[in-house]
Amino acid sequence: MVARAVSSRATTRGKLARGPVVFDRPTIGKARWCRRRLLAWYAQHGRQFPWRSPDAGVYRQVVVEVLLQRTQASAVGRMFDAFFEDFGSWEDIISAPDELLESVLRPIGLWRRRAIALKALASAMIARKGHFPESRGELESLPAVGQYVASAVLLFAKRRPEPLLDSSMARVLDRVFEPRRLVDLRYDPRLQGLARLLVRSRAPALVNWAILDLAARYCVPRMPSCGECPLRTRCNFAILRKRHPSGARRAAPSTGRVKGI
Ligand code: SF4
Repeated sequence: MVARAVSSRATTRGKLARGPVVFDRPTIGKARWCRRRLLAWYAQHGRQFPWRSPDAGVYRQVVVEVLLQRTQASAVGRMFDAFFEDFGSWEDIISAPDELLESVLRPIGLWRRRAIALKALASAMIARKGHFPESRGELESLPAVGQYVASAVLLFAKRRPEPLLDSSMARVLDRVFEPRRLVDLRYDPRLQGLARLLVRSRAPALVNWAILDLAARYCVPRMPSCGECPLRTRCNFAILRKRHPSGARRAAPSTGRVKGI
């Protein structure tokens, strides 16, 4: 039975990939169950990072999401204090010599590329007097803002239930619900719709962080630790693996890749 449509605003540079995605009642019920389990698990086992603190501020939360792309959260956690000591505002980023910005970014790699992206974004934000645009289309027209960072801005600055859909979240969704149709997760409307369905909550940031932490702790790319995972009783992959251990291992979905910073 068809029950609800979730808008899959899977955009790139403001273009809609597809129309709304419709989910049946069992999928909606499963998403609700997963959300409850994830929030309960996160309350006990979630990782503590400075950008997750209630007083982190939108500037830090958005800059961190730029830094987190293609980088482990633990690596960003190690350089967080040093970075924000030097760069506490968009003005600090734009006025810093390139060499200084690059040297602080060096520990997490891709420092030149990240420095260029941050400078371009800082310049745009200063021109906008620090105000982020309201719409996804406008956000994705800012320099260095792709689909992922636009979602982070909508989530943290606009308090909207947007998913931080990267390759880790996609891997969990692939396994718990169904394999994605497209390799590039930005253009897969069903994956995008599932991610939106899952974070539709009064605490969307917590649900996002719970999924990312669960992916890092249990749902790793190779040999996930399903036996300890709070989603195991309704996860398609875990159920299949229990019934057919060798078959499930072969059926493990690919991890995909996040593109663009
Ligand atoms: S049960 Fe296993 S495959 Fe499913 S989400 Fe948990 S760790 Fe991943």
